[in-house]
Amino acid sequence: MGKGIIIKALSGFYYVKDVQSLDTFECRARGKFRKDDFSPLVGDYVEYTATENGKGVVDDIMPRKNSLVRPPVANIDKLFVVAAAAEPAPNTFVIDKMIMNAENNKIEPIIVVNKCDLPSDFDSFANIYRKCGFCVICVSAATGEGVDALKNEISGSVCAFAGNTGVGKSSIINALEPALTLDTGEISDKLGRGRHTTRHIQLYSAAGGYIADTPGFSSFDMDKCGFVHKDNVQFCFREFEPYITKCKFTSCSHTKEKGCAIIDAVKDGDIPQSRFESYCRFYGESAAVPDWQLK
Ligand code: GDP
Ligand code: ZN
Repeated sequence: MGKGIIIKALSGFYYVKDVQSLDTFECRARGKFRKDDFSPLVGDYVEYTATENGKGVVDDIMPRKNSLVRPPVANIDKLFVVAAAAEPAPNTFVIDKMIMNAENNKIEPIIVVNKCDLPSDFDSFANIYRKCGFCVICVSAATGEGVDALKNEISGSVCAFAGNTGVGKSSIINALEPALTLDTGEISDKLGRGRHTTRHIQLYSAAGGYIADTPGFSSFDMDKCGFVHKDNVQFCFREFEPYITKCKFTSCSHTKEKGCAIIDAVKDGDIPQSRFESYCRFYGESAAVPDWQLK
C-alpha cells in the first residue's frame, strides 16, 4: 500500500500521485466509499494499492483539514488573494470577502499585490493587511519582482488563487511556472471545448507545491465557499481577536454598540477602518438571511 494525493478526479477515476515516487496512478475507489456516501475529493491524502499498468485502488482517505463544495476540493492550505496595485485599483470589500471565506474554511490567506511595477500607492494598501498580521507579498508578473517570495510560500503547500478578473492571476501563474499554463491548455483540448458543464478541479505541481485550479485557470470563486453565520463573522477577522472578549456586552455585534472594544480599537487606529467597514457589511448581509433559510 502506498500514500498519495488525489490530483484529479474524472469520470469515476481518481488520479493519485504517490507522495514518494511522484508517479501517478489511475485509481478506482473502493466500493465502501459509495456505500458510506463519502467519496474521495481532489486534494485528499489517501492510501492506495497499485495493481498493474499504472492502475490502482483507493483504499482509505485520511482525515481532511477542510473541504469545499464549489469547487470540490479538500485540504487547501493557502489561498493567494490577489489584488492589483492599479488597473484595476484594489477593492477592500472584495479582498476582505475572500479573506473571510478562507478563514472560515481554515485556509491561510496570503495577500498578493500584483502590478507593483505600475505607479501607485500600493504600500498603504499592503499596510492595511500587514497591520492585521497577514503575510503580504508585493509582486510584478511583468518584471518578475517578488515571484521568488511567492514560490517560497507555495513550496510544500496546496494552494489556490483568487481575485477579480484582470488583477493578473494567469500572468502570475505563468511567471511562476510557464509550463503550467501550457499543460492546462492541453488538458482542455483533450476534454473537448464546451464540455465543462461540471467544472472539475485539478492540482498542478508548481514551485515544490500544488496549485488547485480548473482547466484554463479561471481560479477560485471564494463567494461559493460556504455561508458564514453572523455570529462567526467576527472570528474571520483575525485582528479583532484581542478585543472580542473586552466588549461591555457579551452579545455585542461590534457594529454600533456603546462600550464596544472593537469600535474603540478602530478609533484608536489599532484596527484599520476599511476592515471594520467590511466587517459591518458582511455582518449585515449575514444577519439579513433568515434562520429558516440556513438549514
Ligand atoms: P487575470 O484575469 O487575473 O488572470 O489577469 P491576467 O493575468 O489576464 O492579466 C490582466 C491584464 O493585466 C493583462 O493585460 C496583463 O498583461 C496585465 N498584467 C498582469 N500582471 C501585470 C503586472 O505585473 N504588471 C502590469 N503592468 N500588467 C500586468
Ligand atoms: Zn463589540
